[in-house]
Amino acid sequence: MPSRRTVLAAATLLPLAGGARPASAALKTAPKTAPKTAQDYYDRAAKLAGDDPVLKALVKALSPGLQMPAVQPVKPFKIFDDVAVVGTTFVQATALLTSKGVVLIDAMGSPDDAKKIIVPGLRDVGVNPAHIKYVVAAHGHDDHFGGAQYLADTYGARVMMHKADWDLIAAERPEHAPKRDLEISDGQKLTLGDTTIVFHHTPGHTPGTVSPIFPVRWKGRRHTAILWGGTNPPATTEAKRTNLTSVREAAVTMRRAGVDVELNNHGGADYGLTRIEQLRAGATKNPFIIGPARTQRFMKVMETMLRGRILQDQ
Ligand SMILES: [Zn+2]
Ligand SMILES: [Zn+2]
Repeated sequence: MPSRRTVLAAATLLPLAGGARPASAALKTAPKTAPKTAQDYYDRAAKLAGDDPVLKALVKALSPGLQMPAVQPVKPFKIFDDVAVVGTTFVQATALLTSKGVVLIDAMGSPDDAKKIIVPGLRDVGVNPAHIKYVVAAHGHDDHFGGAQYLADTYGARVMMHKADWDLIAAERPEHAPKRDLEISDGQKLTLGDTTIVFHHTPGHTPGTVSPIFPVRWKGRRHTAILWGGTNPPATTEAKRTNLTSVREAAVTMRRAGVDVELNNHGGADYGLTRIEQLRAGATKNPFIIGPARTQRFMKVMETMLRGRILQDQ
């Protein structure tokens, strides 16, 4: 085994020496356990996750054959000074409480969900649902847009979705589809009062999935959150590859934006439901503030699991 110094020297000589020896020397330093099978990737992801409950939940959520939890109500809760979560154990809507009204990310599955879960849920945590100005569907599946039109009709909220998913629902004509309203494009900003949300197009789960990045406050201190818009790997290999690219690009965007808070619209996928209960039980450290390093690891776990799922398709 050549010393590191020898390898470096050989590499330096590359232009003169013609390549063969330095290349083989460099190969010897490559990791011996490059993943060969889907299971290798899943094992690698599990190793990356270690005993981190958030990352472990993500590995489980991205493993083949995911079972969704039984649907039960979740008691509404303000997980930040300016963020409230309402919904069920299956899917949640996230209300960003700005100085000039509410931006609601996702609207659950039906007008009934809006009427019986979102509206009273917001009232429970002291938020007037009439202050909803925008309803953002993170993607064009009915568990995210189903209550949107009700909120638009009742409170005059504008409904936002990425163009690709407006097109998707125009083609598929699902029940409870909202009327086409505002289109989201990649990098678009929405400012309401003191809050600016940046929408990032992260296609894969659907062609028009968006993952917003926005400021949040916890006990008066500012943090930066991402809400990953669509977590479950899509069916086709091509869409999974698109998803993988989105994950890799978003990790870079998140590092640049200083994201230190990770949220999800399916709180079963990221230990979110348990974290809500930890806060409700009086946790003094907010478990959604996981810091930039763990947020990056979260993306790396998602990337690794997706690579496994792509390989498993072959
Ligand atoms: Zn979906
Ligand atoms: Zn969903």
